Amino acid sequence: MKGLADKPSYIIDLLEGGVTLEDVIDGHICEQALVEKSAFVVGDLGALMRQHVCWQSVVPQLQPYYPVKSNSSPAVIEVLASLGLGFVCANKAEVSLVLEHGVSPENIILSSVCKQLAHIKHAAKNNIQHLVCENETELSKISRLHPNAKLLLQLTTEAHAAETSMVFGSSLKSCRHLLEAAKELGVQVVGVTFHIPSSCQDLQQAYTHALSDARCVFDMGMDLGFNMNILDIGGGFTGSEFQLKQVESAVRPLLDAYFPQLSGVQVLAQPGSFYVASAFSLAVSVIGKKVVPRHWDSLAQGENNEDTEFLYYMNEGVYGPFSRKLLGNSITAPSVHKHVLCAEEAVYPSSLWGPTLDQLDQVVERCLLPELSVGDWLLFSNMGVCGLEELSCLSSSPQLPVYYTVSTSDWYEMQEAGVALDSAMKNFSMLQCSA
Ligand SMILES: *Cc1c(COP(=O)(O)O)cnc(C)c1O
Repeated sequence: MKGLADKPSYIIDLLEGGVTLEDVIDGHICEQALVEKSAFVVGDLGALMRQHVCWQSVVPQLQPYYPVKSNSSPAVIEVLASLGLGFVCANKAEVSLVLEHGVSPENIILSSVCKQLAHIKHAAKNNIQHLVCENETELSKISRLHPNAKLLLQLTTEAHAAETSMVFGSSLKSCRHLLEAAKELGVQVVGVTFHIPSSCQDLQQAYTHALSDARCVFDMGMDLGFNMNILDIGGGFTGSEFQLKQVESAVRPLLDAYFPQLSGVQVLAQPGSFYVASAFSLAVSVIGKKVVPRHWDSLAQGENNEDTEFLYYMNEGVYGPFSRKLLGNSITAPSVHKHVLCAEEAVYPSSLWGPTLDQLDQVVERCLLPELSVGDWLLFSNMGVCGLEELSCLSSSPQLPVYYTVSTSDWYEMQEAGVALDSAMKNFSMLQCSA
């Protein structure tokens, strides 16, 4: 999702009754077919609101703070800010972006584990008080440059450490040291944050550990005279309502036991993927194809699907919008544009590659697809979470076009919820395919 962050403005197509997201994609494919056939992204802003409605109905007690690193397109920030979310920023650029969208400094948390001095000063200057801290070096930097900060101590969780193969946060024991050091330096500590990634297998156990540890830190902090009132349970919500309910049922009894509502503790979460994953789809075109006969013998005796495998090359790969793959995430197989699979149609094992001919540039290792031709389009859904943005400068096209849409009915609902995007709205006119 390259280049979204540095686009100052954007246009949203309003989809009049009956026009669907598929129609929009069709239109842009036609348009692209006439020019360079470059890949493009379609963002459905209505999806952000539908996810918000889902969040509020399943976990109304958790205040959502959106981690800007998940997708920093201005349209996303704008919609989520109007829906009243708070924001988690990892650096000065993210803080500035969010402030530009009118978010109040009280609703911003500066989160990175290791902060540049300039970013701490910038937070102090802009009245951003909530900073995450996980070690004494950070603490002494903060006490010098931002003595009025209110710290959230980052508590380590096994699941987070396992996913990143790095230890994030501090253990219970070092939390005590940190609290004592903060006391000595006169810096306030107001709460605890932790993160359990969605890859975690045993949610119940992970949340049980993390929340009981958090309770211990609250008690230690209160003993030292701190006013502990913020608990942040991090991200790890895939975007499905089912998984959100699973997390909810793991977390709710623990919150009731350790942080009952009467205690006045404000409970936050950091849903990133939850809000943005499903809102963006990516369309890429097939630019090359290879047939790999797997067993020459059986091939000689007449072809059989099992024995033919296709390699397809697409105009974007892991050095572009699929950079998440380099971080170890798998990419779900795409659908084929304008192709309704019928029952008898043959499908073949296929692998999908980016354009670089580099061994790492494999986007989908294996999926079953009908035989494709060069020029066909593939649609990848759930592409809203950006990966390593810095790598996208290596991509084959300098900037992927991003088309924002919202359906009329979602739009009415969003207006009712207080979202105002009027300057960016235009009426949608269907693109005509003349190719
Ligand atoms: C990336 C990240 C998130 C968002 O995670 P999701 O699984 O996308 O919700 C939240 N908190 C922290 C600390 C993160 O690093």
